[in-house]
Amino acid sequence: MAENSHVDLGFVEKTDPEKLTCQQFPSKVGGKPAWLSLSPLPSPDQLSCPKCNAVCVFLLQVYAPVDDDDNAFHRTVFVFLCKNPECHQLNSSVPFIVLRSQLPRVNDFYSPEPPTPATPVPIKGDKLCVVCGSVGPKCCSKCHSRSYCCKEHQTIDWKGGHKQNCSDTQEDRCSERSKVLFQEYELLIEEEAFQKEEEKSEAEKKQELQSFLKSDKASSLLQECPPEDMEKMSNQSEDKVFLKFRKRVGHAPDQVLRYDRGGCALLVSEDNKPDNIPDCSCGAKREFEFQVMPQLLCHLGVDRVGASIDWGTLCVYTCSANCDTGNQYQQEYLWKQDYSK
Ligand SMILES: [Zn+2]
Ligand SMILES: [Zn+2]
Ligand SMILES: [Zn+2]
Ligand SMILES: [Zn+2]
Repeated sequence: MAENSHVDLGFVEKTDPEKLTCQQFPSKVGGKPAWLSLSPLPSPDQLSCPKCNAVCVFLLQVYAPVDDDDNAFHRTVFVFLCKNPECHQLNSSVPFIVLRSQLPRVNDFYSPEPPTPATPVPIKGDKLCVVCGSVGPKCCSKCHSRSYCCKEHQTIDWKGGHKQNCSDTQEDRCSERSKVLFQEYELLIEEEAFQKEEEKSEAEKKQELQSFLKSDKASSLLQECPPEDMEKMSNQSEDKVFLKFRKRVGHAPDQVLRYDRGGCALLVSEDNKPDNIPDCSCGAKREFEFQVMPQLLCHLGVDRVGASIDWGTLCVYTCSANCDTGNQYQQEYLWKQDYSK
């Protein structure tokens, strides 16, 4: 894809959680997933880490309908990851799960009219785990009022307060529960303001990187990001792919997401480029849809769960035919690229 075609950027913003419920069709980071299809939700098996079997936690979702596809009047792509630090390895996509859901305008869950702030939460749908918001086929055997995706999340809820108020039907605030999830934000999408500049000499490019690193933009990034992240970034200065990445991102250093369905990813390194992306189960090729930027790590509070949850960029590939599986969630593909050592 040409460099001057347009890319949408995502930025995180704290917002009223009411704006992030499923009937508002949000793009969001952290908290519980705002499911699109409400039944059948992905099973605990579909969401379990291929490495350790733990249930993966919601990272983000992007609401991205396809204009000329009636089956995708609503369409959301979800990314989950395993929070077990041991499952995360350099350039390995194993502990990430991507799911796509889409619905026509007239569907089983939502009104065909655009939502207002007063639109109620649809009642139809599967029971949700009170801890992580995934499907909850298990429930508390005493009160039967709380559902869980797995034994681990039931234990977290029990120790975190449900033990004290099991028979009490009131929603309690449980800090143990909230530790399972990433911090919640709205994901605001804006078109990238970027003009392709004349090709520059290597010397000019290096000089620009130097001045970027000294600039206010870089220092604001430095304040938000742990210094070792910036170090990792600047150690890359010999890598042309990384220079290009750094420069392009420098136009809007807070971006946490780049969306360009059918375009190509802005890679962080010459090494381990996305390769052999598997076809969709329908047989169609998968194409690039969006990438998660390293800046997102600064907003998640991942230091709490172990520094090994890290990435240069996470590139998400989805079915080019956007195949329709009704209310079912369709598995898609993620490629993790780390900075080269
Ligand atoms: Zn795992
Ligand atoms: Zn759960
Ligand atoms: Zn109970
Ligand atoms: Zn497909």
